[in-house]
Amino acid sequence: MRKPIIAGNWKMNKSLNEAKSFANTLLSQIKDIHDCEIIIAPPYTYLDAINQIIKNSSICQSAQTISNEIEGAFTGDISINMIKDCGCSHVIIGHSEQRQYHHESSKNCHIKCNIAMKNQVIPIYCVGETLQERNENQTLSMIKSQLLDCLNELPIDSEELIIAYEPVWAIGTGKVATPEQAQDIHKFIRDTLEKLTGSSIANKTRILYGGSVKPNNIKDLMKQPDIDGALVGGACLNIDSFVELINKTNYVTH
Ligand code: PEP
Repeated sequence: MRKPIIAGNWKMNKSLNEAKSFANTLLSQIKDIHDCEIIIAPPYTYLDAINQIIKNSSICQSAQTISNEIEGAFTGDISINMIKDCGCSHVIIGHSEQRQYHHESSKNCHIKCNIAMKNQVIPIYCVGETLQERNENQTLSMIKSQLLDCLNELPIDSEELIIAYEPVWAIGTGKVATPEQAQDIHKFIRDTLEKLTGSSIANKTRILYGGSVKPNNIKDLMKQPDIDGALVGGACLNIDSFVELINKTNYVTH
């Protein structure tokens, strides 16, 4: 059984006051949610303050990335231990904006996922093709190499992993993949994972869809057998739409 997940990636949004008020309201509105895991990924500078609000609740906190070093002279970087100190149980790795603006490679994501797993922080590893790759029929080969370059020789047998399929052409564009398009890729990801890790791990790994997920399209996406939740950008910033997404995902266990 795979419990669904709604993960909200705040990116570089909100003031500290807005962040705290969002977390307090979220806490008060999810009392009846037991069958959907909720993850929020605020910017680094709010992690500690948000942790003070949610630490005794079922809401999990994620960082938006980590350094691929443990400590030392790496100006501007944030380490795994720093995010753990701020109450993070998860970390997003390989988001397309990190790949696009900071030249993050899948091999570098391997280093980060390895660090996260060895420190009992669950990676949310993002893969996805660009529009050009889709148009050139490169989607499957691109996703396969993103998966293999990162996941090969990771200790997935003992540590948990979440994968997010986020077609780059659907992120922040309002163009959502059809549920069938998304399901095809999710199945491909699970099959690739199965070859890498065996069926029991592949069957329990949650694969999230990301790319213009909104309250009006989540239900159809969640009907697909290999879609186990969503990584949400734009629609997670507003408390009402985030809570609506959670309510609509609660109870959809695969
Ligand atoms: C994201 O950036 O992870 C994302 C899915 O964004 P949006 O929901 O805005 O498309």
